[in-house]
Amino acid sequence: MPLPRLKASFHTVLCYNAHMQPPVTASPADKDTPKTTPMMAQFLQIKAQYSDALLFYRMGDFYELFFDDAVTAAAALDITLTHRGKHLEQDIPMCGVPYHASEGYLEKLIRKGFRVAICEQTENPAEAKKRGAKSVVRREVVRLVTPGTLSEESLLDARASNYLATVAAVGDTLAAAWLDMSTGEFGVTPTQASAVAALMARLAPGEILQPAHIEADLFGQTMAVLAPVEDMSSNAASALLCDYYGVKSADGFGDLGRAETLACGILLAYMQRTQLENMPRLSPPAFENTSLFMGIDAATRANLELTRTLAGESKGSLLSMIDLSVTAAGGRALAQRLSAPLADLASIEQRLAAVGFCVAQTALRQDIRDGLKVAPDMARALSRLSMQRGGPRDLKAIGLGLQAARYQHARLLAADAVPTQIADYMRQLGHDLSDIDHLIEALEASLSEQPAMLARDGGFIRDGYHSGLDQARQMRDESRRVIAGLQQKYADETGIKALKIKYNGVLGYHIDVPAQYGDGLMVPPHQEAFIHRQTLASSVRFSTTELSELAGEISRAGETALALELDIFEILSQQVLALNEAILNCAGALAALDVTASLAELAVRRNWVAPHVDNGFVFEVKGGRHPVVEAALMAEQSGRFIANDCGLDATAKTAARLTLLTGPNMAGKSTYLRQNALIAILAQMGSFVPAEKAHIGLVDRVFSRVGAADDLARGRSTFMVEMVETAAILNQAGPRALVILDEIGRGTATFDGLSIAWAAVEFLHDGAGCRTLFATHYHELTGLSERLEGLSNASMMVREHEGKLVFLHEVGRGAADRSYGIHVAQLAGLPPAVIERARTVLSLLEESRAAQDMVPALDGLPLFSPQAIAPPASDNLREALATLEPDRLSPREALDWLYRLKDLG
Ligand code: ATP
Repeated sequence: MPLPRLKASFHTVLCYNAHMQPPVTASPADKDTPKTTPMMAQFLQIKAQYSDALLFYRMGDFYELFFDDAVTAAAALDITLTHRGKHLEQDIPMCGVPYHASEGYLEKLIRKGFRVAICEQTENPAEAKKRGAKSVVRREVVRLVTPGTLSEESLLDARASNYLATVAAVGDTLAAAWLDMSTGEFGVTPTQASAVAALMARLAPGEILQPAHIEADLFGQTMAVLAPVEDMSSNAASALLCDYYGVKSADGFGDLGRAETLACGILLAYMQRTQLENMPRLSPPAFENTSLFMGIDAATRANLELTRTLAGESKGSLLSMIDLSVTAAGGRALAQRLSAPLADLASIEQRLAAVGFCVAQTALRQDIRDGLKVAPDMARALSRLSMQRGGPRDLKAIGLGLQAARYQHARLLAADAVPTQIADYMRQLGHDLSDIDHLIEALEASLSEQPAMLARDGGFIRDGYHSGLDQARQMRDESRRVIAGLQQKYADETGIKALKIKYNGVLGYHIDVPAQYGDGLMVPPHQEAFIHRQTLASSVRFSTTELSELAGEISRAGETALALELDIFEILSQQVLALNEAILNCAGALAALDVTASLAELAVRRNWVAPHVDNGFVFEVKGGRHPVVEAALMAEQSGRFIANDCGLDATAKTAARLTLLTGPNMAGKSTYLRQNALIAILAQMGSFVPAEKAHIGLVDRVFSRVGAADDLARGRSTFMVEMVETAAILNQAGPRALVILDEIGRGTATFDGLSIAWAAVEFLHDGAGCRTLFATHYHELTGLSERLEGLSNASMMVREHEGKLVFLHEVGRGAADRSYGIHVAQLAGLPPAVIERARTVLSLLEESRAAQDMVPALDGLPLFSPQAIAPPASDNLREALATLEPDRLSPREALDWLYRLKDLG
């Protein structure tokens, strides 16, 4: 299908966020006006290059924002908006955030979908002065922080990937690419226009780049920030790729076509624009063959609440229920597996065998999980180090992570008969072993137990690791000791017992005496030695030459020590980065091991079984349960989940191809439908399943239409959404698909709806030939079983007990005898009068009266009896009581009231 082109002309990166307004900053010509200060001219010039972002302009200890940026940021951050100087006769709005606390503010802005350009001072004021008294300190943007290009721990969700994704077209060929800068993961796949929304729903990117030649609609409904970017040619993209990876030709990346190359190039170009000098180390783009994965479109993914509930929460999703992983990287890997179940039998079997092995080996599983608990997030630490944004804690994370990898390797070596997949993990963990051992030793020997986050804070290298550093520290400590001695000496000399030597950021080391002794030190004999520095309400502060010299020594020794520590940090970082690939291999294997062991733990705790997956067309589940509903019932102790069987066969030999499920509302139809889809997904992601037994013929696509919601933002009514989703299923489901349909045609007139549902059932049965579970309230459809040999009827069983409805939650053979809708309405608390009237209407309808006969027939019957519509007496009584004020009543009035109340009752 040819792709619709947006515009002939390239357009530059534009304002990406609805919150942002076009900048009111002046045009470049304004900088020449006499009113513009040199600093403002510099600001305007830099801002002009980053009109699509908020500019954090560094001024000393603050990042300042000006003009519209200030107005927007002050509102978004809830901070004070002030102003500074004038531009073109008008006050310049300004707000600022302290440099040291900037990460928190940055986090808020990024979460709200903004992009922030970080502009630093690249020289100090003294250097600027050398160029002339009025020179402005040089500043440069060092990074553009955007939702899809994050590396900081505080900005990232530890247990979720943070993808930057894009789609590009060359002629009629489309490709999608995605990367996670925080781990270096990079993927690319050929795609089709109709498949893009599903892929984006799977990846759930933080940011999507929209090249000018691609329409925004293609990405479907997404939570991601959409960033328009310039087009580029596939040749330029190829050159960029070669340049970045330092190779001569893009052939080395495998079968990348021009569209795939272009998509990768667009991502890399954006990396360059946002990361500038500090490019991350990305793995070469891994080509993904989408046919190896189960197809799950965006609507199905949302309906089945795989990683988020329909309300957008992660709590209550299938992922939150199955996630027993003990590391953040394991959590991310599990989410990826659940988001992209496999459609490749051999790989599914390998994953299942590995989980089965861990289920059987209780002690080994426990050891693996205990060992992993101390393994930090190596992939993210490594990525920060590669971008010069890492700190000592990241080095420590690598050291501890590699030790954990070493432990797991040794532990697995001791195990017998490990399945293929576990053997693969072992290979990855055991690669470059001697180099890894050396690195572990170096990191262990050098880094303190709990190193600081930032290298500039120092103190992260162990004593005894570097003699020069030890010396500098000794000098510093010695001087501190001498200072401590000085305090006693000065107290003795002056006779002031309360004299203290203190330190603060402004005065440095100083002598502090209570206010009443201050004057005494400013006259002979102390006047010469004690130099007055500051008088406060309660104390007076002094320094001495001796103290200043010692303070100088401490500071010089401190600087020397810090410089040495920074050198060591750099050397260690280089050693780590030299083993980039081996470390990533270890990190990947640890995460996968965590997933395997945690799925095994889940299976044991919840009593799940290994599914049998094969190339057949059967879907047979014995004693299946809905994992999330079951867990909720257990947590609330509000009852036991009733297990149910399901039997389908696309060839209609061993079971029906299509099961039509009827039964009252609230009886558990949706739960049953969903649980079977979830069992298929769990099995094919390589997990055990909540059932007594499951035999699953490979499912290539799962479709689920459960409930309907208005999509008013995109101009679609409930019925339209329902039909669009149904159309997607009928057009795409093939013989290997598993289709879950919960009601079709309810959003329109009864006969229209019934006709659509009827035709859809026939089409699924005869045309698509897929395995289908179809829940419906149209009892008329159940008659189809006489004509369609592959259709069977089932129903949710209920019992009536003393006029009340009891849900058994059991799926039984055959169609439901009646609908019980009115019973459920009664349970929900509809007024008795309405229920009564509904029963009357129903009995007439059941006599098959034509609609036009209904009105005269009903006219003969009283609509609502006066009793039924009169508000209940007890309410009048309450109202009267509410107005009653006993303290104000005379005895006579009180008696009157008594009679009145009796009447009302
Ligand atoms: P409606 O037609 O109104 O959508 P439904 O028939 O689809 O209703 P569900 O939403 O599946 O009904 O189930 C209603 C509630 O019944 C669930 O929230 C759950 O608490 C309970 N339930 C469903 N199935 C079972 C089961 N097998 N065992 C125990 N409780 C169940």
